[in-house]
Amino acid sequence: MDFDLSDEHELLRSTVREFAEQRIAPVAEELDREHRFPYDIVAGLAELGLMGIPFPEEYEGAGGDTLAYAIAIEELTRIDSSVAITVAAHTSLGTMPIFLYGNDEQKREWLPDLASGRKLAAFALTEPEAGSDAGATRTSADLRDGSWIVNGSKLFITNAGTDITACVTITARTGEDEISNIVVPNGTDGYEISEPMRKMGWRASDTRELSFRDCAVPEKNLLGERGAGYRQFLEILDGGRISVAAMGVGLAQGAYDLAAAYARERRQFGQPISKFQAIQFKLADIATELEAGRALVYRAAWLKDQGRPYGLAAAMAKLFTGELAHRAANHALQIHGGYGFMDEYAISRLYRDQKVLEIGEGTNEVQRLVIARHLGF
Ligand SMILES: Cc1cc2nc3c(=O)[nH]c(=O)nc-3n(C[C@H](O)[C@H](O)[C@H](O)COP(=O)(O)OP(=O)(O)OC[C@H]3O[C@@H](n4cnc5c(N)ncnc54)[C@H](O)[C@@H]3O)c2cc1C
Repeated sequence: MDFDLSDEHELLRSTVREFAEQRIAPVAEELDREHRFPYDIVAGLAELGLMGIPFPEEYEGAGGDTLAYAIAIEELTRIDSSVAITVAAHTSLGTMPIFLYGNDEQKREWLPDLASGRKLAAFALTEPEAGSDAGATRTSADLRDGSWIVNGSKLFITNAGTDITACVTITARTGEDEISNIVVPNGTDGYEISEPMRKMGWRASDTRELSFRDCAVPEKNLLGERGAGYRQFLEILDGGRISVAAMGVGLAQGAYDLAAAYARERRQFGQPISKFQAIQFKLADIATELEAGRALVYRAAWLKDQGRPYGLAAAMAKLFTGELAHRAANHALQIHGGYGFMDEYAISRLYRDQKVLEIGEGTNEVQRLVIARHLGF
């Protein structure tokens, strides 16, 4: 057994860390306050090849593995979750379905722009009446004269409405008990995108409501087989969970780093608060749980890279790290005292950003259901 990362993985970590500290950290608070999408940062990430890490070079991706992708997402989240989710949703949810299920023509049409980061993509599963019960999708797509006529709505969709979004892959009912995935290009008549939704966290990321009214999409935009949509989106969510789990580790690490630095600096009762055992114990707990969380995430990524079943490992990693990020942000803010409650302290943003890690890509309850099912219950 070898717990060391390869030289390439270490190099990737230091490259992303440097970018996050130099380019993202100085503007993260402002972007969050102004709910402003980070176009310049996305362009910078694209230049570094970080908008398409797990896709082959023939499609302008970086040709990396899942572990590399997880490390990059972890490092971005350590500094800012809005940027990290923009990359993660674009990669795992937006681009991956086209890579996995698209035919040659679809891949040639979409992947170079997406994997290079010139354009963004989104994946729209959630609807007002279909959240955890994603199979209850009501959006319909009827095949008429060579087009899918789409009607329905989607909710909370990441990356759907930026100036550089190329498309959204939607799940739609194409028959009774039949769900399929269809790529809808932005700008298609009948496809409307709401203003950005106002959120508690991830405020610089793009989250929209989508509505489709007699929206005609070319028949050729069906991804994979008709009726395979349910199986496809379960597989997409399994993979996506590794990146959201990496976000949990990154956020917990960021919270730890902020709290450790603050504890060394802040003096009360004539000494740095880091001298108090009560503070040390909080930091010791976060550091210990971080090791466990990181090991779960890297193992899930490794299993996927080995081509072995990874659904159980991904769900466990996602559940554990979502709860870890929650505890870590809470402890870290407590260590900051009243200053931590102020917007200019980064920990207040991490505290708000953390919560959705226990909700998106399957709530904690859904992860427990998935894990129990894998255990045979
Ligand atoms: C910021 C943000 C970005 C998002 N981005 C995307 C995106 O890009 N694409 C997309 O498709 N979706 C996206 N989502 C949607 C997200 O995946 C859903 O919010 C999530 O799956 C939960 O669905 P829901 O919100 O409808 O909650 P519900 O399913 O209504 O759940 C409400 C509560 O009931 C619990 N519950 C539900 N069913 C069960 C059960 N069987 N047993 C026990 N408890 C249960 C849940 O765990 C939860 O606590 C995003 C959400 C947010 C907040």
